[in-house]
Amino acid sequence: MLYTSPLIYLTPLAAFLGPLISASPLNSRAEPPKAADPPIVDNNGVIKVYWHVITANDTLEGGHLPLETMRHQIEMLNRNYEGSGFSFVLHDHGYYQNKDWFHNNDPQGTLVDSLQRSQLITPLEKERGTNVKNPSDMNIWSINDPNPNFGGEGAFPSAIIDETVGITMDVDYLQKDSPVLTHEVGHWMGLLHTFDMECENNGDFLSDTIAERIPTEVQQKNCEPRIGCDGKSFVPTNFMSYGGTECISEFSEQQKSLMRTNMLKIRGFKAGPIAPNTA
Ligand SMILES: [Zn+2]
Repeated sequence: MLYTSPLIYLTPLAAFLGPLISASPLNSRAEPPKAADPPIVDNNGVIKVYWHVITANDTLEGGHLPLETMRHQIEMLNRNYEGSGFSFVLHDHGYYQNKDWFHNNDPQGTLVDSLQRSQLITPLEKERGTNVKNPSDMNIWSINDPNPNFGGEGAFPSAIIDETVGITMDVDYLQKDSPVLTHEVGHWMGLLHTFDMECENNGDFLSDTIAERIPTEVQQKNCEPRIGCDGKSFVPTNFMSYGGTECISEFSEQQKSLMRTNMLKIRGFKAGPIAPNTA
């Protein structure tokens, strides 16, 4: 399964992730706080989700997602992020009919990126006065991109410097067991693909995920064993790798730790308690 072109993420990430990873919250304490630092939100690790349902019409095919679909996706997030210090609650949702935006285009036919979308589409804010600009709140826009390989797009936390941006999900990838939303939320919390650096820097700067070269189009759709940068055969299991839905099922401990650091330092959101491993 293809989530989105890895190239979308390579350039901005390479630029911002290096310093991000090397700066721990502890050793940066001696520095004076920057004016841009967001106030810290302590909500016991519960992230509020605002779901902006963009539709072409009132049918399911036209993007009119039933509430149960959104709730199921949030349940899946809660399952997949167990032990990370984060959980999710569907705080509000709204339907917004716009055929161009539903097809991920602006009226001129240009692909809309999530930065543009965040400026254009805030129906919840307009209609109900909801504050969707809080960097630690998660905005999801569901759309239907004409490119069948587009599964979703998660904005990295660096992008909140100027704008609140969130996650775009293609409705075709919101079916029952799809891991795509979980994957995009990983980007939203600052995680790279496990293969973004290929065989350099452990693939993603983390030593407990398996580094590999960018998976081929065939590999992205299946769970067949492949060869990692260490020369060993492996089946992809990490949410930030590309592979079949059946085998992608976990985050590593370093990824969870990095998400907590990023959320605190960049989105100003404190993780909740981490449940002890009772297995
Ligand atoms: Zn991705």
